[in-house]
Amino acid sequence: MSRPPLTSAAIIAVGSEMLTPTRLDTNSLFITDVLNGLGIDVACKAVVGDDRAELTAHLALALSRHDLVIVTGGLGPTDDDLTREVVAAHLNLPLDEDAEVLAAIERRFAWRGFRMPAVNRRQAQVPRGAEVLPNHNGTAPGLWLETGGRIIVLLPGPPREMKPMLRLIADERLAPRAGGLRIHRRLIRIAGRTESRVEELTQPIYSSWTARTPPIATTILSVPGLIELHLSARSGDAALGAAALDAAVAEIDAVLGPDIVSRDGRSLEEVVGDLLRGRGLRIALAESCTGGLATTRLTDVPGSSDYVERGVVVYSNAAKTDLLGVPADLIAEHGAVSEAVAARMAMAVRTRAGVDIGVGITGIAGPGGGSDDKPVGTVCIAVAAPDARARTFRFPGNRELVRTFSAVTALDMVRRRLEAREADGDWVMPPSGRRGGG
Ligand code: AMP
Ligand code: MG
Repeated sequence: MSRPPLTSAAIIAVGSEMLTPTRLDTNSLFITDVLNGLGIDVACKAVVGDDRAELTAHLALALSRHDLVIVTGGLGPTDDDLTREVVAAHLNLPLDEDAEVLAAIERRFAWRGFRMPAVNRRQAQVPRGAEVLPNHNGTAPGLWLETGGRIIVLLPGPPREMKPMLRLIADERLAPRAGGLRIHRRLIRIAGRTESRVEELTQPIYSSWTARTPPIATTILSVPGLIELHLSARSGDAALGAAALDAAVAEIDAVLGPDIVSRDGRSLEEVVGDLLRGRGLRIALAESCTGGLATTRLTDVPGSSDYVERGVVVYSNAAKTDLLGVPADLIAEHGAVSEAVAARMAMAVRTRAGVDIGVGITGIAGPGGGSDDKPVGTVCIAVAAPDARARTFRFPGNRELVRTFSAVTALDMVRRRLEAREADGDWVMPPSGRRGGG
């Protein structure tokens, strides 16, 4: 094959909604991931409004510099969807109506019992010489164009239409044109540690990896409650890339051991679910300050009915007493936010649900409700399995963050309990700093 391999790409996301404060271009993240997997770097990306001149200018710049240009969005039937027309005009290609595409769009409407609105005819317009990429999840087909040694791909904006189409062309059309190098990745998720502590422990290790063959690039990212370590290695030899990353992960394992939630990209809730299912255990949760967030995260995972029995939200003191039988005296003595109450919630929900593991979460999410003794961010979490172990945490940040930290930490306590690796993380209050019993 005489064609040089594809090396660099540009992405243009089209849509005025993504230039408002409310909508974000997420398509380019997925596209970047797929291209990187083929060893193609994304050299630049742009978000462009539904504007002819702006889109033309970005298209011209991208085509002057990169051998692959991917445009998403603006293929819809409405007046503001300009991508097809702008690309055709820029390349001096006439637009022809494609009978097959039109028939496919008409069939789609007929199947739903509708007549195709006239505006959808526009979506059957194809720049002369372009290949049509069928859309099985919507009306707008994608388009593939080659001109002057460049490839231009037009993809629909809705992610559920764009993703399968891109996957298909990545396999069938882009992979054969990409060079031999592939980017291999690992994602390590870490709980119970601050970003700076993870950096302190791992930087001396990962800083040496750039000198290896193949070199490994590392980035640390913090998402509420968790730290992520992203490792990537570029290699033409899949086995070599995988072996290099396995060795690197083992070095991180040696310093972070029990704090590592997953080494294969699984989320915390998936890991907890897999541990429960693997052991044939079931769980129930009693949540106060998190209002059901921990249960929501667990049940976000498909198939979680295998191990989640129930989650109860016991927000008021009365609810804790009515639904779980937490004695009013206990609440009066220790306060609703206390290890004693968290432990009682965990034990009660476990017993009442007749399951193996109970979780109790009670805390002060703020902005009100704090005191000197128990400032905003004080959260008590207990896991009963069957004996209850409770911890008091001080989580930083606003209400949303404190609630997220609480839900994530509760799930992480379950994980540690199941893995019998119960080292406390950075957020737990030492016993001397604990207040409120337990
Ligand atoms: P369009 O193809 O321009 O008609 O886009 C239709 C819908 O797809 C938009 O209203 C968005 O909801 C979604 N969408 C378009 N572009 C993107 C993008 N870059 N990232 C995420 N969603 C997008
Ligand atoms: Mg649009």
